[in-house]
Amino acid sequence: MHIAALYCLMKVIDFITEKKLQSRVEIASVRQNADPAILSLVFGLPLRKSRAVRRLGSYVARSGVPIEIRLQFSQEEELLIETFLHELAHCLDHLSNQAGQPYRKAHGPGWRNWAVALGIEPSRCGESRVLRDLVESRLKVVAVCIDCGYELRRLRKLPRRRRYIHPQCGGRLKPV
Ligand SMILES: [Zn+2]
Ligand SMILES: [Zn+2]
Repeated sequence: MHIAALYCLMKVIDFITEKKLQSRVEIASVRQNADPAILSLVFGLPLRKSRAVRRLGSYVARSGVPIEIRLQFSQEEELLIETFLHELAHCLDHLSNQAGQPYRKAHGPGWRNWAVALGIEPSRCGESRVLRDLVESRLKVVAVCIDCGYELRRLRKLPRRRRYIHPQCGGRLKPV
């Protein structure tokens, strides 16, 4: 068994059941005239907890094949469901409109139709206050300007072996 499989404990259907979204998804699928086989495929996909703090969720496909849906669980409940349905719409758009091909036109008409059928805003991205706070609380001082003392804050350290200049004053940023 591949080691990653150990972490794939949750499937898309588990989330749908837990959040009581089954009829919503089935009605959308009927409305969209989708092949029922698509739904069973989607239900069996892994739903992975994402640790990316800047993204609410993502749909992952490789070489035209759906791999998984990733969801950042540290967001507000209402937004969590909205994000899940947003990514689910990508997966359904891929399988029903672009089967077997690399997924393209992520927020095109095909995706928008699925989004509307699922009852969510057909807009590009939501924003989570909780996630934004989480990002801010994790920002660390990674460099200090030796001229003006400005502190550069980031989530991750700066790569070493490069020189960084503080654009506002022209001073050198010294990694800490
Ligand atoms: Zn999207
Ligand atoms: Zn400076």
